[in-house]
Amino acid sequence: MATAYFSTHELCGAHDMGSGHPESPDRLAAIEKGLEVVGVANLLDRRDAPVASIDAIKRVHDPAYVDQLLAIVPATGRVPVDADTLLTPHSLTAARHAAGAVIGATDAVMNGQVANAFCAVRPPGHHAEYDRAMGFCFFGNVAVGAAHAMAVYGLKRVAILDFDVHHGNGTEDVFRDEPRVLFCSSYQNPLFPFTSDTSQPGHLIKTPLRAGTGGHVFRNAIERDWLPALDAQRPELIFISAGFDAHRSDPLADLQLEAQDFQWVTQRICEVADRYCDGRIVSSLEGGYALDALAASAAIHIDSLLRAGE
Ligand SMILES: [Zn+2]
Repeated sequence: MATAYFSTHELCGAHDMGSGHPESPDRLAAIEKGLEVVGVANLLDRRDAPVASIDAIKRVHDPAYVDQLLAIVPATGRVPVDADTLLTPHSLTAARHAAGAVIGATDAVMNGQVANAFCAVRPPGHHAEYDRAMGFCFFGNVAVGAAHAMAVYGLKRVAILDFDVHHGNGTEDVFRDEPRVLFCSSYQNPLFPFTSDTSQPGHLIKTPLRAGTGGHVFRNAIERDWLPALDAQRPELIFISAGFDAHRSDPLADLQLEAQDFQWVTQRICEVADRYCDGRIVSSLEGGYALDALAASAAIHIDSLLRAGE
């Protein structure tokens, strides 16, 4: 079976926070180039990202927050919503398609149309909390998808695995009281969003890593923290918050991972998915700001999804 590739073309690109902002439209173009370099660009089941309904977004966000955000979209210019997140005329259109991509990918995987899926979307989502935008994120794309999976398909055990270099505080905030979701996040600390390393309750697994951590320590930490938790949960569907900013070249953080480390963690996740849920994985782009490293890392991640689905 195929790997679906959900993208949003010009819609995600229209969200532009200005020259010099690392979360730029160039990121998606870089991934496209990376797919060509590794020779998988023509092997994907390409699909347009649908738009997420407001109701689907309000499953995981405070309705008042969503309404307020929609109300302050500027006709021109940019409105800051936190220190480094700017709302532009096209931001929420992009954000609704980013969340919609994860919903569409969840449907395609759950209905058996494809083995797994990758959503090449922006803005990212994992810092968006229940009632606030944060860290380049407006809506929790993966959280919206996971809530959709539980509401529409009645899933009782969903795993979200987040290897972005920043802690997925938004996903954690949304699912703090939702034991059907196992949330595992590896991240550099101290670093934005300066989360506490204490895990609570038990369905929230934190894997903090010190600045300078390389692939060997990262892999051992995943084997120590994530794999036993996944074996205990036996997920029915796995989401990946696929951030590639733990790469050694990334300008926003100080871990030392290589593209091969993202291949390794993807392969381990695919093995877990094969064991418990017929390989069902929905992966969605989060961070990754060194364009060459992002291209190589995302491509090797997607290539691993493709091989697992064969
Ligand atoms: Zn990040």
